[in-house]
Amino acid sequence: MTALLSVQELTKLFGGVAAVDRVSFALPKGKLTGLIGPNGSGKSTMINLISGLHSPTRGTVQFKGQDITSLPPHRIACLGIARTFQLLRLFGDLSAFENVLIGAHLRGKHGFAAACGGPLLTGAEERRLHDLAREALEFVGLGPRAGVKAKLLTSGEGRLLEIARAIVAEPELVLLDEPAAGLNSAETGVLAEKLLSLVERGKTLLLVDHHMSLVMNVVSSVIVLAGGRVLTIGTPQEVQADGRVIESYLGSGEIYRRHRAKREVSEH
Ligand code: ADP
Ligand code: MG
Repeated sequence: MTALLSVQELTKLFGGVAAVDRVSFALPKGKLTGLIGPNGSGKSTMINLISGLHSPTRGTVQFKGQDITSLPPHRIACLGIARTFQLLRLFGDLSAFENVLIGAHLRGKHGFAAACGGPLLTGAEERRLHDLAREALEFVGLGPRAGVKAKLLTSGEGRLLEIARAIVAEPELVLLDEPAAGLNSAETGVLAEKLLSLVERGKTLLLVDHHMSLVMNVVSSVIVLAGGRVLTIGTPQEVQADGRVIESYLGSGEIYRRHRAKREVSEH
């Protein structure tokens, strides 16, 4: 396995409380890895640490063999790591197209390097960025909605727009923080297809979600967090058969609700 990214003993304390506690794992290149765990288990903090929004208290992050621990977010983005946010961060008064174009400017002339001290863009390069932004919108299925203000999109469309903005700069690694939040089941199905086709295009993805059903259907392997620590890492089959995972989810209710729903069905 070639690891694109690896974290070693990563720890983040907030006022003495460990949101992430000595976490180590590696993300294989060209694969979709899930990061799951109950609410408050440290998933968003993990993404914030990798993308540079937070500095770890201890531990290291390596990307393509380079130590990127504590680099500022724009430097990490320039190296080829993009992310989406659990709470959407779109510019509501700008069109869907303009929101993606902002991401495209990160790419510029020499891939990610252009936004990182490269030369100003020529007119032809600017037109190329417009094409790329259009392609990214088409890819997520929002082509026909390009001119609509972001604040007028449905929450499902907003999630897809965030993904278009993240991928337009051709990152190698995309970190997705609960991209299915607020989506209905049809929209979640569309999202799952898009994630799989990104993997087919050679991207490496880390998918954070607490919807076991989405994650288990698309990932190659799963990292399970509980209380900021790694509970287990394995294939979807291994993880789903792990009693400790079921136990930790019982506390958060998801599996409990599913068991109860099944019981209610069988009782009727
Ligand atoms: P998840 O995304 O798995 O729901 P988070 O990473 O958001 O979990 O949170 C993990 C723990 O860290 C929680 O107890 C949360 O309250 C705490 N936490 C997260 N961010 C901060 C912060 N900026 N300041 C203080 N505590 C935080
Ligand atoms: Mg979170």
